[in-house]
Amino acid sequence: MYELLTKLYPICRSLTGNGNRETLRILRDYIGAFSIHEIASGTKVFDWTVPDEWNCKEAWLSGPNHDLVCDFKQNNLHVVGYSHFINEHMGFGHVHLHTLRDRPNAIPYVTSYYKRDWGFCISYNRLQSLADGIYRVCIDATLEPGYLTYGDVVIRGDSKDEVLLATYICHPSMANDNLSGPVVAAHLAKYLLCLPQRRYTYRFVFVPETIGAIVYLAAHLQHLKSRVVAGYQLTCLGDNRTWSFLPSRKDHTLPDEIADHVMWMTHIHPKVYPWTLRGSDERQWCAPGVDLPVCSVMRSKYGSFPEYHTSDDNLDFVTAEVLEESFNFYKRVIECLEANYGYRATCLGEPFLSKYGLYKSASTDSPDVLMNILTYADGRSLLEIAKELNEPMWKLAPHIATLEQHSLVKRV
Ligand code: ZN
Repeated sequence: MYELLTKLYPICRSLTGNGNRETLRILRDYIGAFSIHEIASGTKVFDWTVPDEWNCKEAWLSGPNHDLVCDFKQNNLHVVGYSHFINEHMGFGHVHLHTLRDRPNAIPYVTSYYKRDWGFCISYNRLQSLADGIYRVCIDATLEPGYLTYGDVVIRGDSKDEVLLATYICHPSMANDNLSGPVVAAHLAKYLLCLPQRRYTYRFVFVPETIGAIVYLAAHLQHLKSRVVAGYQLTCLGDNRTWSFLPSRKDHTLPDEIADHVMWMTHIHPKVYPWTLRGSDERQWCAPGVDLPVCSVMRSKYGSFPEYHTSDDNLDFVTAEVLEESFNFYKRVIECLEANYGYRATCLGEPFLSKYGLYKSASTDSPDVLMNILTYADGRSLLEIAKELNEPMWKLAPHIATLEQHSLVKRV
């Protein structure tokens, strides 16, 4: 995952453009199965319109002595996303510059998607070194009707019911927000493709944030509303400071409960955020009338870490180890979703376990666990039984399988 992230890192992504196409092609090569879709600028989607396509060839700013102040080729954060073409000389006071006084060595990430503008982003310290005089601004960018590009992967399971795993692909060179999401998603897709059997159908969605999610909903709303039983927005999964949990708008939906269970049982004590502090595409998946059950378990949440939306959210800020931890968390979530059937005991009164060779069998705690499962097997789900017993679902699942083999419980 870290290697994939390193490969994707230098590419200039945005709402639209060739950087997004290249990103999706790399993800397609990594996963294997993958569909890339294009939707034309100007297309109406709910209350929005697909914007013009932006591609930046070069962007640089030079000072009075022709010294280079910043160059898009060195760091794509230097240009304001969606800047229009400009090639002019102008006084220092007229140059559109963005900087961060509080983080003086970092380049800020700035966009102007829906207001036609241009600009450069530089560190505060670089700004301090600049002298008055005539500057040359050059942004060789096109902003014209084209396409918005997105990708999805549907991995079929036994059931048509779906698990939605969504992430976004619209940020330029930043690692935690946002490349950690796509690389963990890609690896989860690869993992699911390798499983011999899946209960659920898994839908992975790679879209530019907000407008891409709205495009996706406009194309698939009725399907998603009728099929999605659980969903997760994958973002900010690469830094090692903390865990964060943003429950779904309705809260206590299946994905909330499963995430909560996995966190509790693996001793993850996240910072829990209220819905009012949402910020990623759960805003669209959970919007009124859409109402998909989607929550988000992250590491440091977007907006909460000082490196957020700056050049300091770089390849040193995320680690392979944390990406693996995040992957393992969601792998557990998937295992729990797959195992979460309802169960009902088939005999009246406690079964005579000795008759089935299950009393004092291999594991000494086995009879107690079996009896405890049986006493709650009144139609409850494995998740509900696990909560009653304060045991992880993945520890109970083999015992349930044993009881099923002896027809002592049945799925309901
Ligand atoms: Zn962001």
